[in-house]
Amino acid sequence: MEALHDAIRRCTKCPLHLHRRNAVPGEGRARLGVMVVGEAPGAAEDAEGRPFVGAAGSLLTKTLAKLGVSRDDLYITNVVKCRPPNNRTPTREEVEACLPYLLKQIELVKPRRVLALGLVSAKALLGLIGREVEKVGEVRGRCFPGRISGVELEVCVTYHPAAVLRNPNLRGRFEGDLALFLGGGLERYL
Ligand code: SF4
Repeated sequence: MEALHDAIRRCTKCPLHLHRRNAVPGEGRARLGVMVVGEAPGAAEDAEGRPFVGAAGSLLTKTLAKLGVSRDDLYITNVVKCRPPNNRTPTREEVEACLPYLLKQIELVKPRRVLALGLVSAKALLGLIGREVEKVGEVRGRCFPGRISGVELEVCVTYHPAAVLRNPNLRGRFEGDLALFLGGGLERYL
């Protein structure tokens, strides 16, 4: 994994490398057999080279803690590893250029569940198991079985925590989704 992280830090496969301070490969131990996949790094992540360390990351970390889960016990990454300018949504070309890294991460981590946070992540991950999605609401709160990088897993979808910060009405559903995705027999993977 460390060699893969180094390759990501040096990557120039798409124009996003021109704008980054740090690429953000991912971190964590996946002790629970769970990988969390967001959209792309923001300003705080770009500055630190670590995923989910800004305001949205703080909400994710606190929500996990409420459920008794340490973020260190999950592998956390993004679909796109470099920050898009002004936090714009990554283009399809940028997602396609970066996707091989996520595929390799899944191969190495071998998660039983991949939690897709937000539409970009849901589209990318569900696309890999042959399911098209246009809106998070179509699939939120549900898990879909499939095989990615030779790994049998479930892709489970909820909101991106940044969306929850923008719309606090989503908080209850976000917490409920995480409780559902992080329960349900994962202890058997410990
Ligand atoms: S976003 Fe991904 S593909 Fe583009 S430069 Fe960064 S690591 Fe490479």
